Formats: sequence, structure tokens, C-alpha cells
Amino acid sequence: MGRLPQGSRRLGRAEARWQATGAYGCIREKNALSAFKREFAICYLLFAILDMKTPELPPFDYTPKPYTGPSAEEVLALRKQFLSPALFLYYQKPMMIVEGKGQYVFDEKGRRYLDGIAGIATVSVGHCHPEVVAAANRQNETLHHATTIYLHPNIAEYARDLAAKMPGDLKVCYFVNSGSEANDLAILMARAFTGNYDLIALRNAYHGGNASGMALTAHRTWKFNVPHSFGVHHAIAPYPYRGPYGADYPEAGKAYADDVLNLIDYATPGRVAGFIAESIQGVGGTVTFPDGYLQHVYKHVRVAGGVCIADEVQTGFGRTGETYWGFESQGVIPDIVTMAKGIGNGVPLAAVVTTAQIAKSLADRIHFNTFGGNPVVCAQGRAVLQVIDREKLQQNALQVGNHLIRGFNELGKKHDLIGEVRGKGLMLGIELVKDRATKEPAKEECARVHEITRDLGLLVGKGGLYGNTLRIKPPLCITKADADFMIEVLDAALTTA
Ligand code: PMP
Repeated sequence: MGRLPQGSRRLGRAEARWQATGAYGCIREKNALSAFKREFAICYLLFAILDMKTPELPPFDYTPKPYTGPSAEEVLALRKQFLSPALFLYYQKPMMIVEGKGQYVFDEKGRRYLDGIAGIATVSVGHCHPEVVAAANRQNETLHHATTIYLHPNIAEYARDLAAKMPGDLKVCYFVNSGSEANDLAILMARAFTGNYDLIALRNAYHGGNASGMALTAHRTWKFNVPHSFGVHHAIAPYPYRGPYGADYPEAGKAYADDVLNLIDYATPGRVAGFIAESIQGVGGTVTFPDGYLQHVYKHVRVAGGVCIADEVQTGFGRTGETYWGFESQGVIPDIVTMAKGIGNGVPLAAVVTTAQIAKSLADRIHFNTFGGNPVVCAQGRAVLQVIDREKLQQNALQVGNHLIRGFNELGKKHDLIGEVRGKGLMLGIELVKDRATKEPAKEECARVHEITRDLGLLVGKGGLYGNTLRIKPPLCITKADADFMIEVLDAALTTA
């Protein structure tokens, strides 16, 4: 076992088991004690009967700074009073993260966790990577801000380096601050360039929380009851596990793509501005498209005069392992690519990259974004690109990701709750079902697994319309030993849930 962080202590076997009950979260709640004792007793017994060993995090030679700020309870009270009730928290006992290093985060008590979700696929090269921190600090001390009305080397050099990572004619960058903004700009470009209005997106997609992002998103969870979707049509999600064409359906990719053609013919004037899709649907539960899907769709869309937009907000920058961009594994080159999250390792940086021809469509008017291309975030973004290449993080994502997929598939032989393991590289999902034949979503079980993994020192995400898919998207620097820990924790959680 590794050196323990300052202020933390090694969990006793009984205590770790106790935490693993998932009831830990309700200990501070009034009247919850008897329920807690009951659950605790059951789970303690289970662990004892199964003689399960408490999974141990791999050693890590790092001591977090002593934390002296307000307690988690105080922060929660402030949040309740001063922040929007629309914000949601993971876990019955909300978790406070005060420090991060590499693939790990620390809570206010100094306890270390493996970050298996990376701030939702955002921390790409690892928390507080020294080179990324140094690049941002250097720029912070020199000049925080200058908009694009002046020249600054950072935005220009960064755009050159980002364009060098793109295939085909995708060579012109526009920087913004979030994925929602990037998608908003992308569909503006698509409409301005084509002169068409209708857009096709996919059901089960997530593209943002602003008005246009919400329009493209197709999940009741994220859509407010306001008019927002003018001109947007949603095709069937190419979701082999739940959709009409399963993984063994011959030419499933083509069959799903036919629905896009059907929409063009029946729901639009036969001309469209464009098509947008995530390369793997992230929020929707890591839904991975059948081979050939995007190739067929792109053909239909281009015949109808539209452009093809790839939302690489989660799948970009090597996360999917096989390729640098998620769309590449479908053998296509989009006309517009949107990026956010992993691009900046956690700072508000996002981009739209397109061809010179499409980019010109915005030159008819002025389009301005105050913070887009800010010198500090551009310095950080450039350092991220360099670290991904130098540390071979894409290759690491492939190797560790394949190791995880093998491990999760092994767990599938043991735990009937696992309906499907899917994804690529370090963009993985495990869909849980109550019954493999009916595929009834195991929502409550997924929530329990989620709680227990946290108690055992692993943070993962949840997703899908029914919240029954575990989402695993760690920083790209995780190791095989971390992956083994993850598999062990999931094994224990699935056994106890
Ligand atoms: N696209 C995708 C695929 C996303 O996952 C998200 C965020 N979850 C967005 C767009 C919106 O990004 P942001 O939250 O930065 O606006």
C-alpha cells in the first residue's frame, strides 16, 4: 500500500466494509440511524460471508496540501442558499474535492480517490499536470486578457498547432468557452454556409444546455418545456443494444443511416443545413455506433446540401485510443468539428474547427466572443496538445482502455447485472439491466453501485436516459494498476449492490 496522504488514515477492514455499504452517506441524516444500522449489518455480513478483500489504490507518492477551508457541510449549506437549485450533486453524502494530482483527487480530509470520470471527460492529461500549470501560470503573470481585436501570439500559434492535428481541409479555428457555445457556432456556420435551415441530430444525443444545444439534445432529462427546437429533427439513435438493429444485424450502420435519409425526405424540404452527432454518445451512456454508420449518413446529408458536424467534446484528443478524433474510427472527415472539455484539461476553452470555405460564411458579419482565444487558456490548450503527444496518452488510452474492456467483460461473466460493456479507449460504459432478456434498466442498482464505488475510493459517472449506465472516462494518464483497482472495486460494488 502507498504512503497515505497527510491527514488521512488507513481504513480499517471493518470501516472500509462499513463505508462500502453505501449507507455511509445517511449517517448524518436525522432518523436514518436505524436504517443505516440495518444496511450496515447486512452488507457487513455479506462482505464477511464472501470474504471480500477491500480493494487498495495503487501506491502514489504525493501528499496533498493541508485543507483549512470550510467543511463540506458548510459548503453544502452555502450552495443551498446561494446557488441555483437546478445544480445537482452526485452521492447521498455529497463529495467535496479540494485537490487533484494526475489521475487522483483528494477530498477535504485528504482521502485519495481514483478519478474514473475526470470531471466528466474533461481532465485529459491529469489533474494539475506540471507543464500545463506552468504554461498557464507564465501567461497569467504576463497578460491575462486581450481580445481578438489585438494580435497575440498564443491564439495564433495554438490555432496552427491544433489545425495540425486535423485531417483534410479542417484548418481554420474559432475559439469559444464551452461545448454548448461551440455547437451553437457550428450550426450557425452550417446555416450561413448552406443557406438551408433544417438540422438533423440524433436521439439520445447531448450537445449543450443553452437554447441551441438543448434543441440538438434529445433526452427528456435535459430539455425544458420552452420553444427551442425549430428546424431540428432527431433521427433514431444508432444504439445497437436497444435500437431496432442489434450488433449482429447485417449492415446495421447502413440500416440506422437510412432513418436520416427518411427524415430528410419526410421532415425537411429535401435540403438541410447539416447533421450533428457525437462520435460516441457520452451523456447518453457511451453509445457506440455500428461500423459504417457515419459514412452512410454523411453521404445522405451531403447529397441534401448539408454539412457534417462532429461533436468531439468528449471523444477528442486521443480519448478513444484507436484514433486522435472519435470520428476517424468511422472512416469519415467532417466539415466542422466542435471540441471542449479535454481540450483545455479543465479550463473554459472550446473550439470549432472547419474548412476555410465554410469559415468564410461568418465573414459577412462580425462575430465576436470576449473570452474566446484568451491568452491564458490558449497557453494551457497548447501545453495540453504537447503533453498528449509527448506522454503518448492516446496510446495509453488504447492500452489501458483495452485492459479495462477485458476486465469488465470478465465481470460480465460473473454479474448478471451487466447488460453490455461498450466504448473505445478510455471512453467506456457499462449498461446495467435487471434482466438480460428484457433489458429492463437497472436504475436503482446502478445508483447503489455508484455510491459503493465512491465509498471504496473510485469515482465514476452515470448516464443514459434511465441512469443505468456506468460511465468510465478517467484522465488519459491512468495506469494498468489503476485499471485493476477499478475492476476490483466494480466487482465488489456489483456483488454488494
Ligand atoms: N457536447 C457534448 C458531447 C457534451 O458532452 C457536452 C457537455 N456534457 C456539451 C456538448 C456541452 O458542453 P458544455 O457543458 O461545455 O457547454
